Amino acid sequence: MPLTGRRLAQLKGIGVGELRRVGPRKATGLAQMEIETVLDLLTHYPRRVADRTNEAPIASLEEGVEAVVTGEVQRSSSRRLRNGRSLAEVVVADGTGSLTCSFFNQPWRARQFETGQRVTVFGKVSLYRNRRQMANPLIDLVGDQTGRLVAVYPQSHKAGVTSLELNRYLEEALDRAKDFADPLPAPLRAELELVSRTAAFQGIHRPESLEQWWAARRRLAFDELLRLQVLLVWRRRADAASARGIAHLVPGHLLDRFLEGLPFELTTAQRRAIVEVRADLAAGHPMNRLLQGDVGAGKTVVALAALLLGIEGGYQGAFMVPTEVLAEQHFLSARRLLGELEIEDEDRLGGNRPVMAALLTNRTPAAERSRLLGDLASGAVDLVVGTHALISEGVDFARLGVVVVDEQHRFGVEQRAALREKASLDPDLLVMTATPIPRTAAMTVYGDLDHTTLDELPAGRAPISTRWLPGERQERAAWKRVLDEVAAGHQAYVVCPLVGSGGAEEEEPEDPDELIEEDDEDEGDGVVELFRRPPDEERRPARAVTEEREALASGPLAGLRVGLLHGQMPAREREPVMAAFRAGELDVLVATTVIEVGVDVANATVMVIEDADRFGIAQLHQLRGRVGRSSLQSWCYLVTAETVSEQAEHRLRALVTSQNGFELAEEDLDLRGGGTVLGARQKGRSDLKLANLRRDRALVVAAREVAERIVAEDPSLSGDYGLLREEVEATVSEEERAFLFRS
Ligand code: ADP
Ligand code: MG
Repeated sequence: MPLTGRRLAQLKGIGVGELRRVGPRKATGLAQMEIETVLDLLTHYPRRVADRTNEAPIASLEEGVEAVVTGEVQRSSSRRLRNGRSLAEVVVADGTGSLTCSFFNQPWRARQFETGQRVTVFGKVSLYRNRRQMANPLIDLVGDQTGRLVAVYPQSHKAGVTSLELNRYLEEALDRAKDFADPLPAPLRAELELVSRTAAFQGIHRPESLEQWWAARRRLAFDELLRLQVLLVWRRRADAASARGIAHLVPGHLLDRFLEGLPFELTTAQRRAIVEVRADLAAGHPMNRLLQGDVGAGKTVVALAALLLGIEGGYQGAFMVPTEVLAEQHFLSARRLLGELEIEDEDRLGGNRPVMAALLTNRTPAAERSRLLGDLASGAVDLVVGTHALISEGVDFARLGVVVVDEQHRFGVEQRAALREKASLDPDLLVMTATPIPRTAAMTVYGDLDHTTLDELPAGRAPISTRWLPGERQERAAWKRVLDEVAAGHQAYVVCPLVGSGGAEEEEPEDPDELIEEDDEDEGDGVVELFRRPPDEERRPARAVTEEREALASGPLAGLRVGLLHGQMPAREREPVMAAFRAGELDVLVATTVIEVGVDVANATVMVIEDADRFGIAQLHQLRGRVGRSSLQSWCYLVTAETVSEQAEHRLRALVTSQNGFELAEEDLDLRGGGTVLGARQKGRSDLKLANLRRDRALVVAAREVAERIVAEDPSLSGDYGLLREEVEATVSEEERAFLFRS
């Protein structure tokens, strides 16, 4: 292959210290920022570009307009205001006049700039006591750089490296590298309307126009996505080619009896899913399938169907879930749904024996555990439900055939590998998500799996009426509904974020607002929101489940039978509470998010979520899905303080407006960006520095298509795509590489 120009793998071998402008001290600083090689430097992308196109003299600025000025810092200071907030001011002058930039609650701003430094400021002009001001403008150190567009880099005070210096290093690196080898042939680039690699590196770091910058960004983001997709497509092929799969070829009597015994008809979507799963199981290569479906779509039945097909052929099934409560719950519903199901056994009198199901978690008592381990190793247990304990040391299966993972994004490549180790043949794997995830995210995170979607809810489900109740007065509506529904013989849940007022926030410490991606690149449009989230002191303290139970039982819900459930209770205390609620011996269950997934009580018709602004969209949707599980009308109340952050308001409104998990997932992506969707599974997995699952939805789809095409054309990527292969290998994480070379 004719290759001219620098290759990424080559640049990865050149230390930044080799640049003339980088001395040993700065090299150390750069290393602290994880910029060690010229490749690291080139892929240290600008956060945005300062656009000085419409620069104006300060004296000409009129109130209310958005403007760009360049000038020198005259002074900067910070002080506390009477209301406790702090105010930092940076005064900038350009010879025609001066401008005060003010920043609330960002005292570090005053330290960021020194007198005499040249900065560019972008913001909206206001007049205060006849002085020109900008509140929270974008302010960038530009130094002596000329040019209309200046790239602004993530910089580090601690490492002592400024955006300005990065600019100079990049200038040298780009000048010396000149040309970059392009892994995509020109015709493919033309088809995809992508600029060349050389134009892309130039355009992202030294743009001559905003169009150029966006085109560069698009190309580089595409490259990131393509490398990832090539990897995923490769892995899928490797999985499929694995010769150790099991062909589960059974008549399906056990499955038929199971389905006949169900108290309901399958939905069309469930039928279709079972057909797909069955075909996978029958094939000689291991199944690797993702099952997505909205809350309440009936994924459990599909999972059990898969497990039973394996069990009928004499294999064992494992059902793995993320939490103990969920394991207990799934174990119970598996037992209930399996009922008196019998499996043919010629060694027995009468030729039948019951399907043996067991539960294994870290809480399983030692004696029971060792008995159970024996039964798993001997094959006496057909189906085991459990947590990650299932893939721990010492758990051995006689004939593990089918594995279902109810995942919630906590089950990654390593766990899959660990499970494989447990069996001599590769078990078939079905991964289920708790709530739908957006299409582009599914392609990225689960791009190595086949997909099945349950896009239909069982018939006769009444919609859940959802209301947001801000403030204590409105909250009463929720308690009134609980009283009415209990009087009508139904039950209710109340969910609080904390366990006790000590503040232990058990399952999901994530703060949904905290996870919003910084969207600097949009700032070119002048859209900046620096205060998306109210400062902590303005948030009311979260309610704790133990105290709330007392308060409710002696207050608005006096006279009702109110139970308590949280994850820090030992299992032996939790089980009777769940059992009592299921049996209708409790009217109300006050709980933490332990009830988020899997809890299934059709008679419950009211869900009250306190401090609902503290939860993310997917979590709220999942919690709401605990009601509306029958044809009874159900209600969901989102209780919050009088005011919530703007982001929280968007989330709550989304919940009120839509009950469709697929729609909400897209909405969540719009609001929060890809990071949260990818979560831990994505971390350290690849190099998505520029690509953004929200903004680049179309690119994700394109990258997938191209990856499929390329791998089909040149499976080992040794021909035209040799350079692409080299890049995948050079940019992929260690963990990922281990996988790559294994297959
Ligand atoms: P999810 O997809 O959220 O995991 P589940 O599998 O927990 O949903 O099912 C939700 C409830 O709906 C359960 O009570 C289950 O028994 C019931 N269910 C499942 N499939 C059907 C169906 N086809 N018709 C009626 N009810 C169903
Ligand atoms: Mg479920």
